[in-house]
Amino acid sequence: MSEAVCTTCPRHCRLAEGAFGACRARRAQNGRVACANYGRITSMALDPIEKKPIAFFHPGRPVLSIGSYGCNLRCPFCQNDAISQHGEGEVATDSATPSELSDLAQRLARERGNLGIAYTYNEPLVGWEFVRDCAREVHARGLLNVLVSNGVAEASVTEELAPLIDAANIDLKGPSQDFYDWVGGDFAAACRTIKTLHAAGCHVEVTTLVVPGRNDAEADIDAIASFLASISPDIPLHVTRFFPRFRLLDVPPTPVATVRRLADVARTRLRRVLVGNC
Ligand code: SF4
Repeated sequence: MSEAVCTTCPRHCRLAEGAFGACRARRAQNGRVACANYGRITSMALDPIEKKPIAFFHPGRPVLSIGSYGCNLRCPFCQNDAISQHGEGEVATDSATPSELSDLAQRLARERGNLGIAYTYNEPLVGWEFVRDCAREVHARGLLNVLVSNGVAEASVTEELAPLIDAANIDLKGPSQDFYDWVGGDFAAACRTIKTLHAAGCHVEVTTLVVPGRNDAEADIDAIASFLASISPDIPLHVTRFFPRFRLLDVPPTPVATVRRLADVARTRLRRVLVGNC
């Protein structure tokens, strides 16, 4: 039997009919790979936008935040493994259409000052068709779209979504492919997504979680800050503190002093650097 190849992310999973990809969110159906988590909602909350974290885009306003299941990365320190590392049938879901969610966002805009919809919690780009369809409906209602993502997707996906996304927080998890080999990702793709969104006029912020012994050298954060500064020194960078989670329970929390010192290193290249989880 022939295989279908997924072109959503650099893993390029080759799938027999009916099989799920490594992200558990996409499945081969009728000879092509389709979004299996379309409209399957595991998490929904009206969060402050600062929680995404996004600090410099409509501060103080809430955003209706939704997530599904699945992720194309395997970060041992995942903070959301209960939904990101599971598939259909392994986690409770509700069904919702883009129109229903956009109507809810509009009602919350009237009643609570909601900005729009944030696609977050699991990795939204493994279900990018749902993000696209929601984002169109959200814009049609005069509201805003926020993407919180690892950015590890092919250019065809991010280029299609970029005009629909108003603000984003993209993880840049480490400074090299070596680091991304550890988490099962593609460094160049994450960098390209940041560039693509920024070039499209999206407000882009970036987060780096500092994991002791993995990316806590000054040269690591300097390389990340240098890359971001080459796009714009105004890109905000969130340097955040690691706490033991998921499969990385034997590593102690990042010392607060380390996070602050690395933030100071980043400030030599970027104008807006924040510390998180401290
Ligand atoms: S999006 Fe999922 S199915 Fe597609 S290549 Fe990536 S991991 Fe594989």
